[in-house]
Amino acid sequence: MKQAINTQEFLHSILNTSRDGIALLDGETNFLFCNEAYLKMTGFTLDEMLTLSCAGLSVPEDLPRALHAIEMVKRDGFIENFEKTCIVKEGKKLRVNMSITLMPDKEHFLVNVHDITESNKLEKTLQNYVTLIDDNIITSSTDLYGNITETSTAFCRISGYTREELLHKNHRIVRHPDMPDPIYQELWETISKNRIWNGELKNRTKDGEYYWVDATIYPLYDDEGNKIGYTAIRHDITDKKRIEEIAITDALTGIYNRRHFNTLFPRFLSSAKRNNALICFAIMDVDHFKDYNDTYGHQKGDDVLVQVAQNIQTRMFRADDYCFRLGGEEFGIIFKCENSEKSFLFVDSIRESIEKLEIEHRKNSASPFVTVSIGLMCIESGLIENETQLYAAADKCLYRAKENGRNRLIMGEKYTSLIDIT
Ligand code: GH3
Ligand code: MG
Ligand code: MG
Repeated sequence: MKQAINTQEFLHSILNTSRDGIALLDGETNFLFCNEAYLKMTGFTLDEMLTLSCAGLSVPEDLPRALHAIEMVKRDGFIENFEKTCIVKEGKKLRVNMSITLMPDKEHFLVNVHDITESNKLEKTLQNYVTLIDDNIITSSTDLYGNITETSTAFCRISGYTREELLHKNHRIVRHPDMPDPIYQELWETISKNRIWNGELKNRTKDGEYYWVDATIYPLYDDEGNKIGYTAIRHDITDKKRIEEIAITDALTGIYNRRHFNTLFPRFLSSAKRNNALICFAIMDVDHFKDYNDTYGHQKGDDVLVQVAQNIQTRMFRADDYCFRLGGEEFGIIFKCENSEKSFLFVDSIRESIEKLEIEHRKNSASPFVTVSIGLMCIESGLIENETQLYAAADKCLYRAKENGRNRLIMGEKYTSLIDIT
């Protein structure tokens, strides 16, 4: 048989069992009643609470909003999810989420309070992390076609674009023309197969400058596991790249230096050997350059080296063409070629173009102008045993060009035709 319930006691028990604070306020928000959870939250005794008002607990900066909330309750009958900070016992601060309801008599308010101090702190910490990441990590997301859907502030800053300028644009907006197509092909092949791509990319800023990033690109999935796009996380490696660039660049002429030649030459040869490509290696040496310096001065001599280097470089524009300052007044070029006749004509056109710069050189026995002698080896890469041998062969041709009157090109195609090569 059911026990008779004492309604009064039962309601009292419900109020004091609730984990949320519950209070009854008068029209001025003075406390008329508080449950135990509310007292526990604030640290006040019931007697103390009955001398206080709910609005009066608000920190000064939240008071206008609290008073406005009461006006809303009077107008609408209730307000939900109203958040404010209170000062409670011993000056402690409490962040609360409240709902306030106008009682049927329209003169009292029922307040329901939830302590969100801890979850608020957690939210703030998370928000700080999000801000930190947004500010410092160069990230962006795209749809499946590479159209930008999200960007971080750091990405906007480094690229020079605003978020609005980037959103909905294709990611190629930051692609730098120096980046070869195969890199992007490999990138797309990798991510289309749902794999992660990592690599170094040169990007272009809005005003045409460049920056380098180490990028990692991941596929992005929705809650059902469908691929919806890609996210990229990058870090700025421009400084590292600049240092690398300085290390491989000749300070006077701006073309690659001997150090880079030493790295690239063996790599170039082994890559050519894979399909036995015909390769060309030429050494160019300025004629009577010591006499030039003696006649016109070292500074003028430097200017000649810059002009000669730039002249060679502008002619070496294909992806697999390289030119170097090998040292002093010597330059080297390497490239893949179709046949020896074409290569001879191409390299000889460089020799001719240097003479056509018409830089006066009175002491040159070969011409009134600055000229170069060139030793060229055009050879199937399969015949090359090592780079030292090839270098020596080209040098031998150069020696012959000097012997035969300078301002000329001598080409070798087989080591056997070059006597006494060791
Ligand atoms: P050849 O026609 O036989 O090549 O005669 P050459 O005088 O050019 O050859 P040599 O090897 O006797 O002299 C090379 C000169 O190049 C000597 C050196 O002072 C000069 N040289 C080397 N590096 C630089 C440089 O960075 N600036 C200037 N101005 N001169 C340089
Ligand atoms: Mg020399
Ligand atoms: Mg010389």
